[in-house]
Amino acid sequence: MTTTLDAPTAPADVVVISPTTGETVATLPSATPAEVDEAVERARAAQREWWSMTSDARSRVLWRWSELLDAHAEELATLDARCTGKVIRDGLSEVRTAARYARYWAGQTDKLFGDQLADVPGRLSYTIREPLGVFGVIIPWNAPSLGSVSRTLPPLGCGNAVIVKPSEFSPLSALRNAELAREAGFPENLYQVLVGAGEVGAQLSGHPGVDGISFTGSVTTGRKVNIAAAEGFKRTTLELGGKSPVVVFPDADLDDAALGILIGILMNAGQICAANSRLLVHESIADEFVERLLERAQRVKVGDPLDPETQVGPVVCQRQYDKVMDFIASAEAEGATVAVGGGRPVHLADDRGLYIAPTIITNVQPDMHVSREEVFGPVLGVSTFSTEEEAVALANDSEFGLSSYVWTSDAARLHRMAELIEAGVVHGNTYLVMDVQLPFGGFKSSGVSNAFGNEAIEACTQVKRITLRTGQGPLPSPWPGV
Ligand code: NAD
Repeated sequence: MTTTLDAPTAPADVVVISPTTGETVATLPSATPAEVDEAVERARAAQREWWSMTSDARSRVLWRWSELLDAHAEELATLDARCTGKVIRDGLSEVRTAARYARYWAGQTDKLFGDQLADVPGRLSYTIREPLGVFGVIIPWNAPSLGSVSRTLPPLGCGNAVIVKPSEFSPLSALRNAELAREAGFPENLYQVLVGAGEVGAQLSGHPGVDGISFTGSVTTGRKVNIAAAEGFKRTTLELGGKSPVVVFPDADLDDAALGILIGILMNAGQICAANSRLLVHESIADEFVERLLERAQRVKVGDPLDPETQVGPVVCQRQYDKVMDFIASAEAEGATVAVGGGRPVHLADDRGLYIAPTIITNVQPDMHVSREEVFGPVLGVSTFSTEEEAVALANDSEFGLSSYVWTSDAARLHRMAELIEAGVVHGNTYLVMDVQLPFGGFKSSGVSNAFGNEAIEACTQVKRITLRTGQGPLPSPWPGV
């Protein structure tokens, strides 16, 4: 890629700062508007080459990519740890998951079926499924390696080219993944990465040469992307934020529930879209259950993300740290109680690193900021309910509808709750489960369309109907005499 850093319109460099040490990890030039245009043009040519290959050849390339991802798991996870503070054990698991996603899509390249349709005698109609062309894939920083693979595979598996716009906080693993893709045999420019901040994503979202957008990020940005993409009638998949409820009934296995909920809110320092951040616990067990949570929360190992023993690392950047601390302060100011955490973990030796101790806030009311907005940090808010109806009403009292969690040993109640909760995913007696063959998409402000499972094929292809007159004899005509 050519750079035009000295041009008057050159955007600011992307400077990646370690949230663990405060040191500069990398300084990279941002893509200029002209470079975005060039990337789109190159992607179009690469897409034609990709789609002209046999499905078997595309499959082999994706499979080879999965092998390379597995082989470079340590390296990719380390890049993510350095950029975002993601703990190395989670990063490794995410890269291995990414490799699994590539194997799955390697198996899908020959399964893009159309239909033969019922039609009148003497006419044959059928559909074929075609790629859209060029996809802009805009991703956040919270799972950089995984995102740059999992979000690109549905478009790639369906025969599209991708241009990835990683977060300005974590571009390194996407750049490395692009090199591995090339090594795996991807046609040149099929998988390109454009480094930059929001303006690069904005240009891609509105670019006339981009046919589809897969966006993962906040509701605020998702709305902008949606508007820009709508101008050109682009196909859009939006995977946005969440404020996921977790409901605990008295008949649940309370030890399992306490462990599951802590994992669900503390994994990746709470920076997960589907984090179970709103705990709704039945009033009859609330005190006892909170005690279990507090006791376990204090055993969680917070520290250096590169230490394999660490379970929770720092949050990604100073802005995120300040935002989380503001939420904690506002909850206290509004009358809630910080039962544990609420600041920097006391055991840390020096004051470097953007660490926030696992935080549990009780007496949270539904109208408090901490209850209504996405915190994206290791902060669990606790409220109580008295009836199942009230639990459903509280769970649904949110602009978000991404994931949800119910803990109970009553199977019928589990089904009832699953039918009534307004969310794209309902989990029973488990923390977050994601897998490539399982759909994952949000209701309400949490998203549009679905980036995983077979549903993703709909988002990445267009259906063409073909009708042929096969009957003999004169052309049937509604115009006698003409
Ligand atoms: P963000 O919305 O700030 O940024 C996401 C991406 O959009 C980044 O690459 C950013 O540079 C880019 N961007 C910024 N302005 C843009 C614009 N005007 N046009 C186009 N692109 C633009 O989100 P973030 O802080 O990076 O990530 C955290 C958010 O992502 C949270 O809200 C979280 O819930 C959400 N998220 C959702 C899912 C999901 O599957 N639903 C998964 C992970 C994260």
